Amino acid sequence: MKFCPECGGPLEQAVPEGDNRSRAVCPACDHIAYVNPRVVVGCVVEHDDRLLLCRRAIEPAHGRWTPPAGFLELEEGTMEGARRETREEAEAEVEIVAPHAYLCVPGIGQTYALFRARLIDGRFGAGPESLETALFSVDEVPWDEIAFPVMHKALRLWVEDGEAGRRHVHHGVMRRVGSGDRFDPANYVLEDHMPVPVA
Ligand SMILES: [Zn+2]
Repeated sequence: MKFCPECGGPLEQAVPEGDNRSRAVCPACDHIAYVNPRVVVGCVVEHDDRLLLCRRAIEPAHGRWTPPAGFLELEEGTMEGARRETREEAEAEVEIVAPHAYLCVPGIGQTYALFRARLIDGRFGAGPESLETALFSVDEVPWDEIAFPVMHKALRLWVEDGEAGRRHVHHGVMRRVGSGDRFDPANYVLEDHMPVPVA
């Protein structure tokens, strides 16, 4: 952000009085343009023991697979947003079963609220942001073609829970280690992982 959203003047970086980190501040009107993480909402959709994934028609990660997900809108709840994103990207109506994972990705300023969900009528399609959508059995999941490390982790947690026969609500922080490819899941560790069994 270069210009003040209040008065249009140029912003400068400074530590505001009483704060402890540098912000974009407006010397003309004293407005502080805070930048905080954004929330991504989405659904891990199950149908007949298979998983619904979308192949992205947009950058970043064009052509790679992801659960339907996107940015939460203002005045929207996380479940509502997750259902909306699933409707938009996979043309599917879903019933949300339970929270699945609350994963923070501090390196990119995003927090993910992902839910487990079921197809209501078995129907799905490809919205404008998807090249195609498809159901995958656990053995068929294209692990090397998953769009983002955080989604790779969310799906791994889903698979591990399924194999263990016990679902959890997961919390964790995706922390990047080293300076390798930021799209490679191998370059992340899951910190503060707190799996809570679902009753
Ligand atoms: Zn201003």
